[in-house]
This record gives sequence, C-alpha cells and structure tokens, in this order.
Amino acid sequence: MDAELRQIEAETLGEIEAARGDREALQALQVRVLGRKGLLTQRLRAIALLPPEKRPEAGREANRVKERLLAAFAAALRACEEAAPASGRLDVTLPGRMEPRGRLHPITRVTEEICAIFSRMGFERVEGPEVETDYYNFEALNIPKNHPARDMQDTFFVSADVVLRTHTSPLQVRTMERRRPPVRVIAPGRVFRRDSDQTHTPMFHQVEGLWVDEGVSFGDLKGTLTAFVQRMFDEETRLRFRPSFFPFTEPSAEVDILCVICRGAGCRVCKGTGWLEILGSGMVHPAVFENVGYDPARVSGFAFGLGVERVAMLKYGIDDLRRFFENDLRFLSQF
Ligand SMILES: [Zn+2]
Repeated sequence: MDAELRQIEAETLGEIEAARGDREALQALQVRVLGRKGLLTQRLRAIALLPPEKRPEAGREANRVKERLLAAFAAALRACEEAAPASGRLDVTLPGRMEPRGRLHPITRVTEEICAIFSRMGFERVEGPEVETDYYNFEALNIPKNHPARDMQDTFFVSADVVLRTHTSPLQVRTMERRRPPVRVIAPGRVFRRDSDQTHTPMFHQVEGLWVDEGVSFGDLKGTLTAFVQRMFDEETRLRFRPSFFPFTEPSAEVDILCVICRGAGCRVCKGTGWLEILGSGMVHPAVFENVGYDPARVSGFAFGLGVERVAMLKYGIDDLRRFFENDLRFLSQF
C-alpha cells in the first residue's frame, strides 16, 4: 500500500512538473488523480478494506500524499495564472495579433470601377434577372429561333423557353421597354455559357452599356469607349475599332486596345499581334428598336458589352481566368 501511494505521489509530481504552464493539462491531470474516480481517491477508498489495525497508519499516509499533491497542483496553476493573466493585467509589450480583414473580390472591384467611370459620363446603373426567357435573351435581340447566331453561344437551358442569360444584353430590351428615350444605362451582371478552359469559365461577368437618344452617332460610341478605356487603363492606351458582327447591332465593331503588356511589340498574352480585344459594340439594330416600340427613324443609339474578367486580367496581369473563382485566399488577398 505504502509503496503504491509513493509511486502515485512521485509520478504525479513528475507529471505536474512536465505540464508546467499548461493550465488545461494540469486541470486534466488533477481530475485523473484527485477526481471522484481518480487514482488517489480510489486508494483512499481501499483503506476501508484493510484490517482495522492497519487503517490509521495507511489513512495518515494517504492524506499526507493528497495534501502534498493538492498543494503542488495549486502552486502550478497559480504559476499559469501569473504567466498569462486571464484579465486585468495586460502585457502591452507583446506583439499585437492581426485580425484577418476581408476585402472586395478583384472582380467586384473592377466592376465597381467600370461602373464608376460610366456613371461620371451620365450612365445610370440598372440590373436584371440572371434566369431569362428565350425572348429577352435571344428573340428580342434579333436572334430568332434557328438563327445561326445562336450557335455562337452554348447556352444553359432551364427549360425549352427559359435560359441562364448568356449575356447582359437582355437588359437593353428590358430597359427600353420601361423607358422612353433618352436612355443611358450601364448594366453589370453574371452571365453563363457552357465553356471551361484557361480563358473561359461557365459563369463570368459582363458590363452592358446602352445610350439611345435622337442623333446618337457612331462618333459618340467611339468617343465614349475611348474615354472609358483611357480612364480604365491609362491616357496613353491606344485602341482600334474592328468591323464585326452581332445580330443586335449594325454596324458592329470589336474594340482592341494596344497590348498593355508589350505595348504592341507582340507577346504571349496578345498572341504576338500587339492588340487585345476587350469589348464588343455597335449601333443598336433597327429591329431591336421595333421590338421595344421605339421608332428607328427618329432615335438611334449604341450598345456595348465587355467582359469584367478580361479587363481584370489585363489590369492585374493575371494569366488564368479560373483563379478568380477558386477562392484561394493567397491569391485574393493580393488585391
Ligand atoms: Zn502583347
């Protein structure tokens, strides 16, 4: 009995020493030895089973060990308290702990920047549904069923007549249906296409612009987009308008900017051409005006759409579009 008690005493004192400074470990150890089902507690209970003449001596010895261990635990826990005060005392010389701070996603930042530039030119921001009817996404934009232009976009169909919008252009129709000219709006939003590789993701962001009034010309289109590009990148950025085709604009033009990486010399990003395509634009097609009840003989206007990811990649020098959607904080916290 005595030998066992001394063993418990020596082992526990050793473990208290080993757990010095660790409040939780000390508390767990105290429960294991002195708790209701603790090692020492069980020994104390066993004394009742000894022959009567041996009980007083064994009891005294067991209580001595218990007092000794209680004192050792108390001292070790007090030392913890002094080393790391729970409250009240504060060591102002310790280095501070930084709270992790959230920040805006680069796509959000670029979207806001684009909208702010157009807002200063008098464009009003509007938004619309991401789940669209076939009518707004295609039909009203002069893309009738069986029109070959529908092959240009691989569409997510919700049902035969409902799609995830493949571009922000439905906002042109929705806005003109509700308002009379003059109309000058900018419409940011998510769009969806069945496509996924280094430069395509099934969901990406566009900003659509529309300006309709009496006498709006292609010159206004060029002036507006030139002003935008030079504010978005820098004053020196050159751009060119390249004839193109969209069913809902006529004439149509794609806009390229001089490569921001190589300044026109040719590099991997611009595939050696020195130019980068950043948006599509054109004068609103008379058929679209007729669909919304505008008189194409009286009003004219232009529309444009640009990919936000594309602009963000060029602005920040990012070569893989998919990075924007992987939620890797090491990437996102750089902006
Ligand atoms: Zn280049």
